[in-house]
Amino acid sequence: MEPRYNDLQACAISPAAPLVIVDVDEVLAQFMRGFGAFIERHGFELRVDRFALFQNIYRPGETEHLDLIAGKALFDDFFRDGADDLLPALGAADALADLSTHAEVVILTNAPEHGRMARIKWLKTHGFDYPLIINSGPKGPPAAELAARTSGPAVFIDDLLPQLESVAEKAPRVGRFQMVSDERLRPFAPSAPDRHVRIDEWPALKAAIEERLSA
Ligand SMILES: [Mg+2]
Repeated sequence: MEPRYNDLQACAISPAAPLVIVDVDEVLAQFMRGFGAFIERHGFELRVDRFALFQNIYRPGETEHLDLIAGKALFDDFFRDGADDLLPALGAADALADLSTHAEVVILTNAPEHGRMARIKWLKTHGFDYPLIINSGPKGPPAAELAARTSGPAVFIDDLLPQLESVAEKAPRVGRFQMVSDERLRPFAPSAPDRHVRIDEWPALKAAIEERLSA
């Protein structure tokens, strides 16, 4: 049985509620900061000089990044054991708390399945107590399915351009917002502001989402 599929099936949306579909890493959570702190304790360093993940991991003093298999292993460990290093994005919990007074919030994250328990605990600890869907691959299909469960307006927030493009293709009536919480990553993050609104700070993002949901 496919657990990810069950998450989506189990997610009940009120039939007329406005809907907020929101990513975790670099949107609710300061992923790169947390991952950097985690790998530092394991003797590596993260250099944020491009919009990448495994290609940014180095052994101190070296100029060639760590090989991708070793990088992937650190990434997998982080999802299992790194929750203490992961801090929430500034203002995210307050913004979602406000939005949730008149909209339903659903968290749609691409996390490895082995990180499920740690992720659930992290979200609850930091005030993100909303239904969670652990997805893998493009988010357009699950976003379309969620949005189809309500006649109300829907929005989608993610840091990754390909995910925003996926939602534009599969769920064109869902409003799209790009948010990159890490200040160092912001200049490197590919974006297309003509197609997907880009706002990197939660207070301003929340205001834009509210406007879209009430339009
Ligand atoms: Mg993300």
